[in-house]
Amino acid sequence: MKQFSLTLFSFNVMLSFKIHSPETEITLPLWEKKHIKVTLKRDDLIHPFISGNKWRKLKYNLQEALQLQKNHIVTFGGAWSNHLLATACAGATFRFKTTAFVRGDEQANTPVLTMCQLFGMQLIYVDRDSYRDKEQLYRMYFDQDPTTFYIHEGGYGLLGAKGCAELVDELQQDYQHIFTACGTGTTLAGIANAIDKKDLFTQVHGVPVLKNGGFINDEVAQLYPHLPPPILHLEYHFGGYAKTTPDLLAFTQHFIASTGIMIEPTYTGKLLYAVDDLIRKDYFTPADQLLVVHTGGLTGLLGMYQRFVFN
Ligand SMILES: *Cc1c(COP(=O)(O)O)cnc(C)c1O
Repeated sequence: MKQFSLTLFSFNVMLSFKIHSPETEITLPLWEKKHIKVTLKRDDLIHPFISGNKWRKLKYNLQEALQLQKNHIVTFGGAWSNHLLATACAGATFRFKTTAFVRGDEQANTPVLTMCQLFGMQLIYVDRDSYRDKEQLYRMYFDQDPTTFYIHEGGYGLLGAKGCAELVDELQQDYQHIFTACGTGTTLAGIANAIDKKDLFTQVHGVPVLKNGGFINDEVAQLYPHLPPPILHLEYHFGGYAKTTPDLLAFTQHFIASTGIMIEPTYTGKLLYAVDDLIRKDYFTPADQLLVVHTGGLTGLLGMYQRFVFN
């Protein structure tokens, strides 16, 4: 009985987490010249640590964990993972224990992992080979543990996508195009599914931040086999995950200084670079309205600040 009321209490705490993610119109001289309206969906404002799409992806996972009376979240990520930081903070907020398998060795300590530990997350460092078989790792440590709840790396899965779909319900106007950056494709899948369900004419675009990003279509199809595949723009990975070029860094700086909105090179920098490049190449029709999702993740800058050059 005691446990039951605790569950209910936590459940209420969760429902009281109201999010704030306005639509902000932004402009750059080139975009104005081309008559393209760009609006940012400010998921970066949802929370400083449970950032952007990470809250959306966690929401139904945490509700499911509560319903199953699990109080210990186990998940996976790299040393700069926005997903780990979000899980650690959400765990502390909603009274879950959290454990993460971290790819790499013990030396790979980063400010992000320190923040995860400050939120009370336990870290288990595993080498790259062991990291590949996540279910095996989970079984090795938590087999028969009735308290643990498994969340995929990056929050991938249907519960995550269901949370991301809610972004579409919040929109104040119609758009011809919606753009999001893709790591696992969960956010893209959730948005595409919501657009499909509502029968909107909006075209859904993904910008994979990894090399050979075509796999994102397989990930989306695995979640929602019936969906028409979203449009992927595969040329904006800049060499691979967390890789940058002087061009990308210069654009990122220019964007931040011209709009007052902070972005970072790993996800939102590549995304907005792609949008800017497509506008430049007249990919859109004049007067098109674009919605670009600012998925947050600004702590990624902590690993990149030395790459910027100012003159
Ligand atoms: C995790 C993350 C993504 C990737 O989202 P997916 O749903 O995995 O495709 C995009 N942007 C930011 C800032 C992220 O932290």
